Amino acid sequence: MRQLSSLSRLRIGIGFDAHNLKKGRRFVLGGVTIRFSHGLAGHSDGDVLLHAVTDALLGAAALPDIGTLFPDTDPRFKNADSAALLSQVCAVVRKRGWRPAGLDCVVVCDRPALAPHALAIRSKLGRLLSLKPEYVGFKAKTTEGTNLAIPGRSVAALATVLLRKAT
Ligand code: MG
Repeated sequence: MRQLSSLSRLRIGIGFDAHNLKKGRRFVLGGVTIRFSHGLAGHSDGDVLLHAVTDALLGAAALPDIGTLFPDTDPRFKNADSAALLSQVCAVVRKRGWRPAGLDCVVVCDRPALAPHALAIRSKLGRLLSLKPEYVGFKAKTTEGTNLAIPGRSVAALATVLLRKAT
């Protein structure tokens, strides 16, 4: 019984997103700006990873998704900072009594190479969710010739978030 009641204080959420690459835009991933010839297209700054993380948080709290809360038809969110949007969502989730307990994510991307930026991205994700680095997983995968993301044309991201009920 005790195990069941402690499990009821946990929620898991999943998020997915994909964006096309566009020449001349700033490349922002996980809230970290990376020098590259292309950036991620989108109404906001196009941060595909933060969008997936935001949707995972919203999903875990059973709230409407990112597109419902921040529609891409709303001029207020033009070139919006996705880290600021995620912070807003974190505040809403916390207000409902939930605290992030863990995050894991995967980015599918051939270029730019993400390995040199993995630590900076993990640190930024940890700061945004108020999580210690050991509670944040980040993996960069290449397409390996598949169509999971189109090599040189798009980037995809998946994220899972675990929430725990605050005492
Ligand atoms: Mg998006």
